[in-house]
Amino acid sequence: MYIKQRRYITVFVLVVSLVFLTFPFQSASASSPQAAEISIQTLNVRSGPGTSHAVINTVSKDTFLSILSRQGDWLRVDLPLGGKGWIFGGSEYANLHTLKGNVKVTADALNVRSGPGANHTIISQVTKDTVLPFLEKQEGWYKVILQGGQAGWISGRFVNHASSGENKSQGSELLPGTAVVKTAVLNVRSGPGTNYSVSGRVQANIPLPVLEEKDNWYKVLLPGDKEGWIAAWFSELIIPNQNSDKTAMINVSTLNIRSGPSTSYRTLRRGSLGEEFKIVSSVSGWLNILLEETNNAWISANHVLVRDSIGGSGDSSEGSEDNSRGSSNPSTLSTPSTPSTPPALAGRTIVIDPGHGGHDPGAVGRNLNLTEKFVNLDTSLRLVPLLEKAGANVVMTRRTDVFITLGQRVNIAHNNSADIFISIHANGHNNRSIGGTETYYNTSFRSQDSYRLANALQQELVSELKLRNIGTKTGSFYVIRNTQMPSALVELAFLSNAGEEGLLNQASFRQRGAEAIYRGILRYFQ
Ligand code: ZN
Repeated sequence: MYIKQRRYITVFVLVVSLVFLTFPFQSASASSPQAAEISIQTLNVRSGPGTSHAVINTVSKDTFLSILSRQGDWLRVDLPLGGKGWIFGGSEYANLHTLKGNVKVTADALNVRSGPGANHTIISQVTKDTVLPFLEKQEGWYKVILQGGQAGWISGRFVNHASSGENKSQGSELLPGTAVVKTAVLNVRSGPGTNYSVSGRVQANIPLPVLEEKDNWYKVLLPGDKEGWIAAWFSELIIPNQNSDKTAMINVSTLNIRSGPSTSYRTLRRGSLGEEFKIVSSVSGWLNILLEETNNAWISANHVLVRDSIGGSGDSSEGSEDNSRGSSNPSTLSTPSTPSTPPALAGRTIVIDPGHGGHDPGAVGRNLNLTEKFVNLDTSLRLVPLLEKAGANVVMTRRTDVFITLGQRVNIAHNNSADIFISIHANGHNNRSIGGTETYYNTSFRSQDSYRLANALQQELVSELKLRNIGTKTGSFYVIRNTQMPSALVELAFLSNAGEEGLLNQASFRQRGAEAIYRGILRYFQ
């Protein structure tokens, strides 16, 4: 036993020294940001660096993903639809490219083409002030990575060079997580690279809040609230779970809320008995909690009551025990905050799929040039907060004007174990006098429930929008034919009909459409 351990340590030291020896060669590429180009049809995205971690998404061939950090062949990347995950970046799975910089669009709308020149096909469009990383420049054209991860070419006449930080500042997200150092002693440096000076050292297994990720480095908050940079590949990153349903309720009279996971971090404020916070991760007896929408706060796990948030996880598989859930464990629930009836959609995962996007506009109205992709996305974005307020876990297949394949839409529904899938569209017809609302379902999977869902949506839409009731119909659209959960595809109204294009152009009409879909969903789950 003892000998084995010695040998293990020797091997460990040897491995560490080898890593240090190869270090200078790695640092050259680590200093410039890189992107991975997926080279197989579908590649799994996992929650951590290894096949033992759960698959949380998939990415398809020819998608480019910015690399945030790496562990061996595993790459932590920004995902096209937001969020981060790990992919296996071995040479047969992905090609790595060095990003040359960023460009900022100066024209109001700029065409993105399949090649470097105006004779190539238009594949998408980008709007003014969009900042895009580029892979190469050729004869005045830049090969850029679009927000959906697709690559395309834009003319250099309508762009400026932008600073590299500019496209990162969009959207407020949680801090990346907590780094736990996995080597005996690790240098802390003043910047993200080995060319920066050593400002201190950290020992193994100390959890450090990560403030920022850059290339292969983490900017961390050290005990005593000093900041420094550590090499990402010597640490394991614990990622916050934004959708966690766990909360911590303080069960002592006061408790320090700190900036990091130990008493050496400063007190942000004092929490008091009964205060409850969402827990996004935990490490070594400390809980990372949400405080004013960010996860920069920590409390000791010893003085709180951890429980599922109000409404619980919605799983009623315990049968008869379920009735007593509200009053179970009375000794630990000392404050009179017994959960009331859970929100109507608590525990339901609903995938909303705004049809079309990016270079695929869908139907286009002839009077106002209103695009279907806009109507679908805007209506969906109005629907999401209604569902979330009712406790649903909502996943959107796209949140911006990006192109995603039908296969990706279906994968997103399966990877998130959706309870239902709803695709939102607006219609088009050669006969411009045709108008009305229709909803489709498919009989390949869960046909009875799909019909019930489609019918509930159709009835609510017709009674709210008061357009012609074309009906609840079977249809063979890819996304409802291939999703294995109950699914429906809504056609709100016809863009080809001048009157209905005018209605779809009104925000209030799209809002009413969203509210009707929401009521249809409530009705389905009743
Ligand atoms: Zn459509």
